Amino acid sequence: EFMAADEIRESFLKYFESKGHTIVKSASIIPENDPTLLFVNAGMVPFKNVFLGLEERPYKRAASCQKVFRVSGKHNDLENVGYTPRHHTFFEMLGNFSFGDYFKKEAIEFTWDYLTNYLKIPQEKLLVSVFEEDDEAFEIWNKVIGLPEEKIKRMGYKDNFWSMGDTGPCGPSSEIYYDRGEKFGNPEFGSDEDFRYLEIWNLVFMQYNRDESGNLTPLPNPSIDTGMGLERIASVIQQVDSNYDTDLFKPIIRFAEEIAGKTYGKNEKDDVAMRVIADHLRAITFLISDGVLPSNEGRGYVLRRILRRALRYGRNLGIDRPFLYEGVDVVIDKMKNAYPELVPNRNYIKKITKSEEEKFIKTLRRSMDILYQMIETAKKEGRKFLTGEEVFKLYDTYGFPIDLLQDILRDESMTFNIKEFEELILEQKERSRKAFKTTAKQVKPIYLQLKSRLPENEFIGYNTLISESSKV
Ligand code: ATP
Ligand code: MG
Ligand code: MG
Ligand code: MG
Repeated sequence: EFMAADEIRESFLKYFESKGHTIVKSASIIPENDPTLLFVNAGMVPFKNVFLGLEERPYKRAASCQKVFRVSGKHNDLENVGYTPRHHTFFEMLGNFSFGDYFKKEAIEFTWDYLTNYLKIPQEKLLVSVFEEDDEAFEIWNKVIGLPEEKIKRMGYKDNFWSMGDTGPCGPSSEIYYDRGEKFGNPEFGSDEDFRYLEIWNLVFMQYNRDESGNLTPLPNPSIDTGMGLERIASVIQQVDSNYDTDLFKPIIRFAEEIAGKTYGKNEKDDVAMRVIADHLRAITFLISDGVLPSNEGRGYVLRRILRRALRYGRNLGIDRPFLYEGVDVVIDKMKNAYPELVPNRNYIKKITKSEEEKFIKTLRRSMDILYQMIETAKKEGRKFLTGEEVFKLYDTYGFPIDLLQDILRDESMTFNIKEFEELILEQKERSRKAFKTTAKQVKPIYLQLKSRLPENEFIGYNTLISESSKV
């Protein structure tokens, strides 16, 4: 039998412990004292100040399995979730770290040793990328490890220079890929559509700090930061083609099947919906457990959006009632060995989830039918878009969330006339201003307010509910 994810997580930490690393427990998904970040998006985040030399720890080598969430800022995978076999919003990142201790050679040797001797991945299935200017990393892979030249790809800045965000620690990287074989054709290496070469592990040679104006200054000590997605390595070890077929996701997919009364693997559209639900269920569970509450700003807004998105995909499967809160149990039962803190939070997480579901379903029922009528009409008329007027009606009269609308239209291969829609919004504002000269300036359409609620680079779409939309 193949190793289960619980065993892989443990084996990774044990391996690095045997190599002098201190095992550090996952930090919360909510970053501590870091205003540059909404969520922890990589295993290195809790160690950021150690890399920067601002904080001392009693160890120079560490290993962790960190809860991460990639739905904002520089690392945002939301659009990929459900559509690629390898992307999640919430996932677990295994990592080993050196704070001014070992550097490239040892980092590469550890990686190779662990993958080929401990996990027993056949060497011929592995290939790597290095930053195009990094001759040193190239030489180590080629001469020390003995990897043939054709299996070492030199890649540019975009792919092989890793940074946490717009500021903070960064450096050239080297990534390890697993070749799933020719049945996936010859896709462009590393692209979102590349389902053949699976990136499993990223080794970052942390050498710089980037400041607000983009300048790079060398870190006090060259360091190592690595990240390997547990779900991805589990898919390799368990010899399945998708993270969603690993033991981490199977029970959650089964839950989605049961609740929808459908079988996974029969129809691509249903499968996407089940994968989105499975992914978002894990995210919802861990976000609430770490203290996020649904709201209209910041982290709470992201949680709200994820939850509504899951419900919307549930609707695609014909589910028209609160159901996510039941799925929370499935997630907790799967994850509780590694994250025992979920257990005492169980009822709380379910309660928050259920009440948010009820609230949203009520609003959605009213407006969804109208939207689908509009889509039908557009199709009959041979239009691949909704008019600004139609969208304005949905938004203004029925309070339909615009980000949700964008998602739905994408599934129908349609768009909407944003320019016309925004003009109507401004016109309405103007009308209101004239009609209620005294009160108008106190209230702005909610979608305009929204921009200011999130940091500039975190803006992730329009959102409103009829109860919140301002009728000035
Ligand atoms: P990709 O190119 O596949 O999007 P990445 O280069 O953006 O991945 P890194 O920032 O290098 O990812 O993160 C380190 C590791 O975390 C990756 O090598 C991969 O194993 C895992 N990983 C990254 N993003 C995701 C995700 N959205 N879901 C699951 N695992 C992920
Ligand atoms: Mg990515
Ligand atoms: Mg990549
Ligand atoms: Mg990478």
